[in-house]
Formats: sequence, structure tokens, C-alpha cells
Amino acid sequence: MKRCEHRTNYDLREEALDPQLTDHLAECESCAQRARRAEAFDTVVRSAMITSVPDDLTAKLLALVPGLMPPMLVRSKHWKLQRRAFVGLSGFASILALGLLIYGVYLLANTVGVGDWLATASTWPGVAIDWLYRHIPSSRSFVAAMIAVRQPLQWMILLLLIWQVWERMPLPNNRQTA
Ligand SMILES: [Zn+2]
Repeated sequence: MKRCEHRTNYDLREEALDPQLTDHLAECESCAQRARRAEAFDTVVRSAMITSVPDDLTAKLLALVPGLMPPMLVRSKHWKLQRRAFVGLSGFASILALGLLIYGVYLLANTVGVGDWLATASTWPGVAIDWLYRHIPSSRSFVAAMIAVRQPLQWMILLLLIWQVWERMPLPNNRQTA
């Protein structure tokens, strides 16, 4: 399917307020598909954010603060802002989590010395790597795999980062490209 030039962040669309966008969605399958995907994501996030609290606890807490709005009303009022923050934070958190995971694996590898072996294995078949190969013959293939996978992994992280930034970039609303 040809990618449409009409770029809108369907995650945060307000099509009820934008008849031009609604018209475009009716005739453009590419954008309609993106909008449906965003809608499905929206449903998942919405349901994930709803937490049930025991009624008596809610009542007790509300009684503590006179004039406080019930939580449901507060949530619906600030829903869009919360969602905006959630989408941004989840993207950032996924990058951070992946980075920490990889850094953790790297640290773990360093504590058992694999990092040093990785650094020297390609140029200098040192005492350590010899020792490892002698005592754990299967490590030979593991080290080779680690070296082989290191560069593609770096590229994957970079591409993931670029993709996340690109997806979340605020786009100029260019109406005449429809
Ligand atoms: Zn389109």
C-alpha cells in the first residue's frame, strides 16, 4: 500500500473537531488503517489505566478531604493530558528499559570478564581467552556470537531511537496534501 503524504499524529487526533480529517479518513485507506491502529492502542491504554478501588475506601478517602471531586470525574477531565504524558513516557521508558537491560548485560559480561575478552578476542588471543576456551570449550561459539551480534545490536538500538523520536515528532498540519 502506498504511504499517504497526509501526516497526522493519529495517537492524539481529535477528528470530531476536524471535519477535513474525518473526510480524508473516509477516502484514504492508508490513513484509516493508521487511525484504526491508534484507536486500538488507545483502547488498550485506556483499559490498562483504569484501576478499581474498593468503594468504601474511596468513600473514606473522599470524606477526609471536603469538596474533593470523585476520582472518575478528575480522570475524565484530564484524560487527554494523562494520555499524552503516558504515550511519551512509555516511549521513553521503553528506550530506557532497553538501554538498562543492555547495559546490565554488558556489566554482567564485564564482571565475568567477557567484555575484556570481547575487546581482545578479535586481535589478541590472550591468556584469558585461552583459559576460557580450554576450560569451557562451548564458550568459543558464545564469544563468536557475542562479537557477531554486537554491531547489529548497536544499529538496532539506534534505529529504535530514531523511530521513536520520528513517531513522536510534532508534525505541521499540512491540509492540502490529501
Ligand atoms: Zn491519507
